[in-house]
Amino acid sequence: MPPRNARDVSSPRRAIPLSMARGPDEYVPGEQEPGVLLTSLRDLLQWAQNYPRSRSIWPFSYGLACCAIEMIQAASAPQYDLARFGWEVFRSSPRQADVMIVSGTVCTKMGPRLIRLYEQMPEPKWVISMGQCANSGGEFYDSYYIVQGVDTLVPVDVYIPGCPPRPEALIEGLLKLREQIEKQGLKERGEQ
Ligand code: SF4
Repeated sequence: MPPRNARDVSSPRRAIPLSMARGPDEYVPGEQEPGVLLTSLRDLLQWAQNYPRSRSIWPFSYGLACCAIEMIQAASAPQYDLARFGWEVFRSSPRQADVMIVSGTVCTKMGPRLIRLYEQMPEPKWVISMGQCANSGGEFYDSYYIVQGVDTLVPVDVYIPGCPPRPEALIEGLLKLREQIEKQGLKERGEQ
């Protein structure tokens, strides 16, 4: 007498409802689960808001020094190809951009212009600080003419270390920003 739950190998395997499966050998992952997804309305709206946003971030290129060459490489060179993530449209106008990528050394004269351009970007907006100069002054640390971190001027969402960071690091930074956007609540930043 065959053991209990032994499968008849001569017959084609059929998907059996989970409630009727008598043992692990009859369970086929993915075939018995009911095709129903439960969620709350708030979570659904949050997903509907954040998913498209996180997949179509248009960068405002703010290349100031050597780091900008790496940013241009990430944006334009075929081996990096930001287009596959939906970020390929580098804008020259702040009014059409979502994320400001500050790549390079920010001198004190540039500071007020940077703030003005950030304010001209529509909400919601984000900032990536690319490279040690933008992060903390870098090799110009404690210099009287270099801003000691772009976060002293505008709120920064992602910091990318390196001197210079490679294009892969910028892609990693943009992926981190994508994660942040996916997790944010329904309110826009700055809303009460
Ligand atoms: S972090 Fe290094 S590569 Fe980038 S702008 Fe400063 S000196 Fe140049």
